[in-house]
Amino acid sequence: MHVRRQEAGSVLEYTLAWRELMRWTPGDRGSIEDLRGRRGIGGAAPLGIGGLLLVAALSYFTGIDFTSIVGNLPVTPTEETSGELVTTPEEERMVDFVGAVATDTQETWVRLLGPRYERTVVSLFRDAVQSACGTAESATGPFYCPGDRKVYLDLGFFAELSQRFGAPGDFAQAYVIAHEFGHHVQNLLGTSARVQEDPRPGANSASVALELQADCYAGVWGHDASQQGRLGAGRVELEPGDADEALRAAAAIGDDRLQRMGGGRVAPERFTHGSSAERMEWFNRGMQTGDPAQCDTFARR
Ligand SMILES: [Zn+2]
Repeated sequence: MHVRRQEAGSVLEYTLAWRELMRWTPGDRGSIEDLRGRRGIGGAAPLGIGGLLLVAALSYFTGIDFTSIVGNLPVTPTEETSGELVTTPEEERMVDFVGAVATDTQETWVRLLGPRYERTVVSLFRDAVQSACGTAESATGPFYCPGDRKVYLDLGFFAELSQRFGAPGDFAQAYVIAHEFGHHVQNLLGTSARVQEDPRPGANSASVALELQADCYAGVWGHDASQQGRLGAGRVELEPGDADEALRAAAAIGDDRLQRMGGGRVAPERFTHGSSAERMEWFNRGMQTGDPAQCDTFARR
């Protein structure tokens, strides 16, 4: 996304530096479940701003994809009402972008897994949402809920990724989406069960292996997307040889980096997603090979 307004010295400078590395065709929202018009009333108990910031900064670190934070947020009954959706052309373009990437990622997995792949959707929400994994707030960041097999995303996370984590750009955003679809693949293939069997954190944990594999699977899609001539076939096309942006995003949300941002020391025994170096390494492996068989992160433990 380009932000055309220029405000010197502000965070907008980040967005001005964004490059659009991807070419795609807007209009396919077949992989989107749009919940933006719904407002959670009540919802999760309010966290103090410190808590909110912490949750935002540590969303990946806390292992939200499977168990801890979404499930542990205090859940209070939530009424959902349909309100009028107030949006902007920029936001709609971003919805189209998410739709294009989500559909494209799923096409890749249909090709790789055949009938073993079951299509799902990205549930776009604002503020808070009810999933089969409990109530989630925007501040928890994107996640996959194995219970209802959906990816949950608040578009505000992309601004966060750019501004707080210093990883702007469309391919960085696509990497996050593709990572969550990686968890869907793991759920379909039964790999996720390994974490339910052994939920302990740590650098050699099943949780870290699962997260690094999702990074590798995101790379597998990136490999596919960087093939030439896809745009004409209605697919997403990535400029070849430029994975730096997604690599920056992978590095930005490594456990060690998030622990430092959280003001703490680096504590590998609490890792749930892997270090920045590992996340980059596994994304790269998927990106170079395009082969999910190269993503056996459990073998590294
Ligand atoms: Zn994950």
